[in-house]
Amino acid sequence: MSTKTKIAIITGGSRGLGRNMSISLAKKEIDIIFTYQSNITEAEKVVQEITSLGRRAKAIQLDIRQNSSFENFLIEVNTYLKQNYTGSKIDFLINNARIGLYAPVTEITEELADDLYHIHFKGVVLLTQKLLPYINNGGAIINISTGLTRIIIPGASIYASMKSGIETYTKYLAKELGERRIRANVVAPGAIETDFGGGRTRDNKEINAYIASNTALGRAGLPEDI
Ligand code: NDP
Repeated sequence: MSTKTKIAIITGGSRGLGRNMSISLAKKEIDIIFTYQSNITEAEKVVQEITSLGRRAKAIQLDIRQNSSFENFLIEVNTYLKQNYTGSKIDFLINNARIGLYAPVTEITEELADDLYHIHFKGVVLLTQKLLPYINNGGAIINISTGLTRIIIPGASIYASMKSGIETYTKYLAKELGERRIRANVVAPGAIETDFGGGRTRDNKEINAYIASNTALGRAGLPEDI
């Protein structure tokens, strides 16, 4: 049986859930390529932590809003793979990077709608398409959605709608990639204590208590739960 090193690409691996996923996968002996948007200090800490676990890690800057930069991102990934691995493909893609932007339906601006569309939907679709030739047959794609597609919290209409779009897109992805035995699945977390949305689940006592009182475990989620 082949013992070839498996490699995962995780977008938004510098903080929050993506950071936790990167380190958790490294603990499962998977090498990691992850992206960050601007926080190079946190990205470097993640690289160090993964390296100290004996795995290889590479942090690459990427703004998921800038689809014109995806070609350069691919070149960087491909060059890194060729320099460090005998093969030049990855096994797993986790589309995780994003930001939380909220507004009541009466206050949604064109800018907010465009931002959420670009970050949460268009960027994911186009980046996935570009990476598909680099994913080994038999690999897997995980798209991060949100519990807000099912639980309605005022202010999250566009954010949650874009995630609903990603959930539908993932079903098509799974169907169309079945021939290559590439699995596509959604993970849709409830509220988790990270920097997301200005850190409100973690730092706002009222929101934290509300979530805890509506959750089976009696507390808000933690990155390691996901
Ligand atoms: P965090 O805010 O903790 O981390 C966000 C990550 O995404 C960082 O690595 C950040 O990079 C990166 N990022 C932000 N904007 C961009 C961008 N425009 N382009 C590329 N990368 C970007 O978020 P979470 O870990 O909490 O969220 C991760 C995912 O989980 C998201 O898809 C979110 O929708 C989903 N989710 C989160 C929940 C929660 O309660 N936390 C609940 C349900 C779903 P940098 O460090 O450089 O800024």
